[in-house]
Amino acid sequence: MNPLNSKRNGLLAAIITLAITFSTLTLASAQQPQQRSQNTESQGSIISDIFSLGSTIVSSAVSSATGSLQSDPYEQFRGARYTNAGLMNERDEIRIGNQFHVEVSKHVQYTTAGQERVNRIGQRVARTSLRPTLLYKFHVIQSRELNAFSTPGGHIYVTDALVNVANDDELASVLSHEIGHVVARHSLKRLQQTQALGDLANIFGSITGIAGQTAGQLGTAAAQVVASGLLASHSRDEEREADFLGVHGMAKAGFDPNGMVTMLQKVQQIAHSEPDIIGSIFSDHPDTQERIDNTQYEIARIRSTPARTRRRR
Ligand SMILES: [Zn+2]
Repeated sequence: MNPLNSKRNGLLAAIITLAITFSTLTLASAQQPQQRSQNTESQGSIISDIFSLGSTIVSSAVSSATGSLQSDPYEQFRGARYTNAGLMNERDEIRIGNQFHVEVSKHVQYTTAGQERVNRIGQRVARTSLRPTLLYKFHVIQSRELNAFSTPGGHIYVTDALVNVANDDELASVLSHEIGHVVARHSLKRLQQTQALGDLANIFGSITGIAGQTAGQLGTAAAQVVASGLLASHSRDEEREADFLGVHGMAKAGFDPNGMVTMLQKVQQIAHSEPDIIGSIFSDHPDTQERIDNTQYEIARIRSTPARTRRRR
């Protein structure tokens, strides 16, 4: 428990500092918009997942079809199965997620305002996700920025500013997108691509319980991972996959999937009128439009699919 005791400006500064610390790419994208066209990584920081991901989506459908029929933007994700195979096991994933949460909590301040609503909607979406048995924990961060992000193991973070502008369907879309990242183990996969996961796994492998010196090592390793920005750097395909999983998840939970579209449209509007609220994290309007197009494509597909494909229960 290490909340910052400063007031609003201090908090915002802390969050911004956190974002910059987590990802130098974020800074680069804010100052040099042309870098958006790079095609390897999204420019998100750990707190800038939701609205930076628009910049990561290049719709082959829209760009290649040039006005003709849209091809399937989510083809590669259909029918995918998700497990921890080849990755850290789930128990350890939860442990490092908890450790990441400790580190994140050093940089933000939480609020109980909206917490109950976020948890209620989030848990409902989580239950119908493709990873329903994980214990998800939802956290509301005080910030005037519209934002959300997630860490491995089921910790989902959303800012109170976003909570306040979103209706229930829209909030469900944001939380469902973040759950999608957890379902697909995107951060774990990213960690695995680096030495970081190996280091963490080694620490876990050497212990039967976390205590004393080992706990200190774990904390250090987790702090390094959080500071590195690894958790925030999702690839373009990962963002598309989270959108795909997100729109399906919210629909299965009984929310109107069009909430994902209206959420993005709302953000587009706010980006015009109050750009500082979105600032560096939402820098790419045209690609957000493509994201809207992809979501609308998928909603049409969902609505044309017979209800009997719901196998649950
Ligand atoms: Zn995302």
